[in-house]
Amino acid sequence: LLAADGSVAASIFAEMSALAARTGAINLGQGFPDEDGPAVVLEAARQAISDGVNQYPPGRGQPILLEAIARHQQRFYGLTLDAGSEILATAGATEALAATILALIEPGDEVVTFEPFYDAYGGLIGLGGGIHRTVPLRAPDFQPDLDALRDAVTDRTRLIIVNDPHNPTGAVFPRETLELIVELANQHNALVVTDEVYEHLTFGAPHIPIATLPGAWERTVTISSGGKTFSLTGWKVGWLSAPAAIVTAILAVKQFLTYVNAAPFQPAIAVGLGLPDAYFDGIAADMKAKRDVLAPGLRAAGFEISVPQGSYFIVADATPLGFTDGTELCRKLPGLAGVVAVPIAAFCSPGNRAEYAPLVRFAYCKKEPLLEQASAQLAALS
Ligand code: PMP
Ligand code: GLN
Repeated sequence: LLAADGSVAASIFAEMSALAARTGAINLGQGFPDEDGPAVVLEAARQAISDGVNQYPPGRGQPILLEAIARHQQRFYGLTLDAGSEILATAGATEALAATILALIEPGDEVVTFEPFYDAYGGLIGLGGGIHRTVPLRAPDFQPDLDALRDAVTDRTRLIIVNDPHNPTGAVFPRETLELIVELANQHNALVVTDEVYEHLTFGAPHIPIATLPGAWERTVTISSGGKTFSLTGWKVGWLSAPAAIVTAILAVKQFLTYVNAAPFQPAIAVGLGLPDAYFDGIAADMKAKRDVLAPGLRAAGFEISVPQGSYFIVADATPLGFTDGTELCRKLPGLAGVVAVPIAAFCSPGNRAEYAPLVRFAYCKKEPLLEQASAQLAALS
């Protein structure tokens, strides 16, 4: 976790956002929307502050939020949860991941993820002393080879971490892949941790939470966050749901990570979770329209891409443009085209970076004129 000179190594997102700020380039690197979420949710937070919701909330989260999460899981997925024992509010999905991984693995346990993987997974598995095994996702569709998945999961596997829809590739796993994950977890007595922060950002088939599959609930921790669904990434309101005994184990760790989370944002996110279907349909349609601006823009600029089915990222192969090192390209891109992206190598384990070297990720959770401008500027590359 330390850079060669002993300083703390900055995450690629922080490095690339700082580069965008320094150069004035369009920031399609770090994934955060350039418009804040629903006015009623913003107003609910202001109201909560005025109403005096400003002291430590309960460790599991404000009951009003926990109940709203339970209703959301019932409404969208038919899952019936006990708000008091099967749900935990966390400081973003990041704390949910941290507390879950630290609670559930012992040093030496194996943890399987797909690769490329959201960078926190690698860091947290390392903090927990786990051994990280990966199953590759490859262009063009970034779906795992099912035999490679079967090979990766063994009796040494403690956790299988799934991220669906997937950051950075935008892949959405089909039901048969999710069913195989559950089957393997059962066969090898592993637990499934599923990061579903982009659950409402799918553009084709509806999202399938792993916890809804037969044989899954008893061994699955489902993680999500208000950051993406309500375009409020800076609020850091996340949550997880799992059987009560697993939640209790995770709470034992969470109490020493943050103790509790920011009080007034919790009732506000509860308001968001109760918004009508039109809101949730609208964010997916809106994000799809943004995708459909940037995807042809990247193609016209000379990148090879496949169109993502979820999340808000596109992976672009810079090989046709003559670039073989995406990290180097990302450092030069502000000068070449006034745009910032992030290299896929940042989502890979050191031994596998070479395979993904020419790939870079662009975030399209931005206003359409900005995406058009970025596309026009990127045309300078070819
Ligand atoms: N998981 C994935 C896949 C993400 O993309 C992100 C953030 N973009 C997170 C977790 C972290 O979410 P949060 O900001 O709620 O901690
Ligand atoms: N999840 C966002 C992304 O992938 C932000 C990550 C971060 O800043 N740590 O870009």
